Amino acid sequence: MTDQDWIDLRSDTVTRPTPAMRAAMAAAPVGDDQYGEDPTVNLLQQRMTEMLGKEAALWLPTGTMANQVALRVLTRPGDEVITSREAHAGWHETGGSAANAGVQLHEIGQGGVFTAEEVQAAIKPRDLPVFPPTTLVEIENTHNRCGGIVFPQDEAVKICALARARGLATFLDGARLWNASVATGLSEAKLSAPFDLVAVSFSKGLGAPGGSLLAGSRELIQRANRHRRMLGGAMRQVGIFAAGALHGLDHHRERLADDHRHARLLGEALAARPGVRIDLTALQTNIVVFHLEPPAQDAATLTAQARERGVLINAIAARTIRAVTHLDVAREQVERAASILCELLA
Ligand SMILES: *Cc1c(COP(=O)(O)O)cnc(C)c1O
Repeated sequence: MTDQDWIDLRSDTVTRPTPAMRAAMAAAPVGDDQYGEDPTVNLLQQRMTEMLGKEAALWLPTGTMANQVALRVLTRPGDEVITSREAHAGWHETGGSAANAGVQLHEIGQGGVFTAEEVQAAIKPRDLPVFPPTTLVEIENTHNRCGGIVFPQDEAVKICALARARGLATFLDGARLWNASVATGLSEAKLSAPFDLVAVSFSKGLGAPGGSLLAGSRELIQRANRHRRMLGGAMRQVGIFAAGALHGLDHHRERLADDHRHARLLGEALAARPGVRIDLTALQTNIVVFHLEPPAQDAATLTAQARERGVLINAIAARTIRAVTHLDVAREQVERAASILCELLA
């Protein structure tokens, strides 16, 4: 099987830069970003302050580093951070929250979302010295492990207002904020407005080979800059990456709606198979998470069988699979993947 034959639904990070994106990257003017002299990075950061409605923005090599830097900027060691169940921060950053920021995470809610009432109940009282101080609420939108669900914006507004009133900071892990925007019709600025600090990634649905970004007040971004350097993430001629990001914003953002349609097609086909449990109301963007119950085989078995038929998916738990649609899988390929998976689940 050649590279091109695989239908790779493991993640939207597997996309490869298109020839046009590569050309834009090759042509990008660059400079030393540590001197603030990379014109393409500066252009991207400027554009993102407008797009996210914040004073300042900072390019970072990865979304994980953006999240880690955000925790360092907004908390102190020993603090507690409220997050959703199965948040990226707790499940996919290899313990970084504890190692880098020294914080503990408190997962609340269900299915990747939570309410202001649940936040209210989770905030530990400040007057008792036995409790860790709750100092940050982190929302993931869209939610990776919980099937790409969009965090309800009216609830995010309520939660951030409550946090502010209780002296807590707020952070939006918006690695896939573009998908949330396309799914809801709300602008990225609107989705970001309630939060002190926002992270976005260019290496997912937008198809760039790397790069993330933090946006917030000038003061917070200045501190983020120091922590980026401290974590070893301050780079030099990264305009090459920023050019990929700019190209993705211009050419791959609107088409995310196709990915969402493809994910729904796949999810609905799977939902009809015996032993498949899938919450179609949570399937709002480009991620299909489904659970396998007997008589269906377990996740490792289905993943191995699918691989033999040229379809790559991820087992994210013993009986849970994640499939992600993206730029590099066309509708016909998603249809083929759906029929192969349905055959294997017969
Ligand atoms: C992918 C992702 C990140 C960042 O991951 P990197 O692989 O480090 O770029 C952060 N948050 C969420 C929700 C993600 O899905």
